[in-house]
Amino acid sequence: MKVLLAASEVAPIIKIGGLGDVIGALPKALEKISVNVDVIAPFFPSAKTEGLQLYKSFDLHVPFANKNNVVEVFKTKLPNSNVDLYLLKNEEYFVAGGSSFFANNITETQMFAFFDKAVVEYVKSSLNTYGIVHCNDWHTGLVTTMLKDELGNERPRTLFTIHNLNYQGIGGPALLRDTGIVPGEHPLIDWDLADGDLNMMQQGVTSSDYINTVSPSYAKEILTREFGSGFDDILRSREGRLSGILNGIDYSAQPRGYDINSAEEGKKRAKKVLLERLKIAPEYKDTPVFSFIGRIDAFQKGLDILFEGLRELLKQDAVFILLGTGDKNWEKKLTELSQDKTISDKFSCNITFDIELANLMYAGSDFLVVPSKYEPCGLIQMIAMWYGTLPIVHDVGGLKDTVKNGETGFVFNRYSSQALLTSMKEALSVYRTEKMQKMIPASMKKDFGWEQSAVEYKKLYERILS
Ligand code: ADP
Repeated sequence: MKVLLAASEVAPIIKIGGLGDVIGALPKALEKISVNVDVIAPFFPSAKTEGLQLYKSFDLHVPFANKNNVVEVFKTKLPNSNVDLYLLKNEEYFVAGGSSFFANNITETQMFAFFDKAVVEYVKSSLNTYGIVHCNDWHTGLVTTMLKDELGNERPRTLFTIHNLNYQGIGGPALLRDTGIVPGEHPLIDWDLADGDLNMMQQGVTSSDYINTVSPSYAKEILTREFGSGFDDILRSREGRLSGILNGIDYSAQPRGYDINSAEEGKKRAKKVLLERLKIAPEYKDTPVFSFIGRIDAFQKGLDILFEGLRELLKQDAVFILLGTGDKNWEKKLTELSQDKTISDKFSCNITFDIELANLMYAGSDFLVVPSKYEPCGLIQMIAMWYGTLPIVHDVGGLKDTVKNGETGFVFNRYSSQALLTSMKEALSVYRTEKMQKMIPASMKKDFGWEQSAVEYKKLYERILS
């Protein structure tokens, strides 16, 4: 079995979010259980290639937008592995790759429609030796249709992984002209076009042989109107071909200066360094520290309920540290709140992307708040547990699948600031008690490594092929 994993990012070379982490780690775990897997991604100018042995392999000729486009195929290995990584270079289309691919604008959909076409040309040039093409999120939504067009029944089977259903890649019908997909020949495309645009997520969901999500609970939730982002009916009709596999985390990317036996001392040390770094007064050295790390995404990440509850939390004996970037309005609101003189000494608001600070926060905080409205998997609560920092999470998606209330963290059911606040106060009430002394090692003992998930993916590939 040979698998080609196609995605918009692959850490550590191109990392924009959690998707990059997955694509950087899953193939390495698959390789360890003898799955032959290659990775293919765009070669953006922002790619971090220092230390990589990178060589130009060959040129691909990709017909797109009524012209012949040359894509240079560079070959390297995923760091610390023997996995082949193909990076596709084209200066006209793969130009951005900066901070996010979440906007639904024409430029991005065109960029990734071009990527999809190039992936298909690459599969053809490799003499169609892949048994499975594993596609990821809307960026790869047109691959299956074009594979069908180009290779018919001889085509590889496809798996489409939904990392976040809410980002869909909505483009205009001109994308079809660009890719050479002929409307009228594909009922699923015609159906999609009826509302005037082409939705790349919808194409991935409807045309692929099999679909999975990044946690078992999210696979069930997206069948409902509340979480289905408009696709619940389509997904229900494909329920027999949909499942969930929890993401793992790459522990080697999360340095920790202590283990389960030295956690108490280690966390104290980290807290001291954290407070110093953020210029929080030493008088708070024994105060419970709550943190939030993540994209400032107004719809997903629960900022509204957090914002409502923060003032009340900070009336208690508590410090709050926030690290994130994203939505400008929310960045401003949070910054302004942190400047309010009544709480400014206890609320540190860091609007930036800083992996080192994130790791220091994971180690030096007592509690990590993840109030997301929906969460396909979520890595931060799993990373927090590795550091012995107890997560406080909303009972959805991957959060529900990874945190046990009262054992490894705190789980609240209703999406409201009141429910979040109650959970945060519960956390305060166990601070430095015997109960917390038991919860910390229980959370640190959890193993969310990739090994188990890779076994699940291998089984799924075998199932798709049979
Ligand atoms: P999502 O993929 O929805 O953004 P995840 O929880 O799956 O959320 O993954 C987020 C990853 O990005 C984690 O590794 C987290 O530590 C990291 N991260 C998010 N925001 C920041 C930031 N501002 N600075 C540093 N790391 C961040």
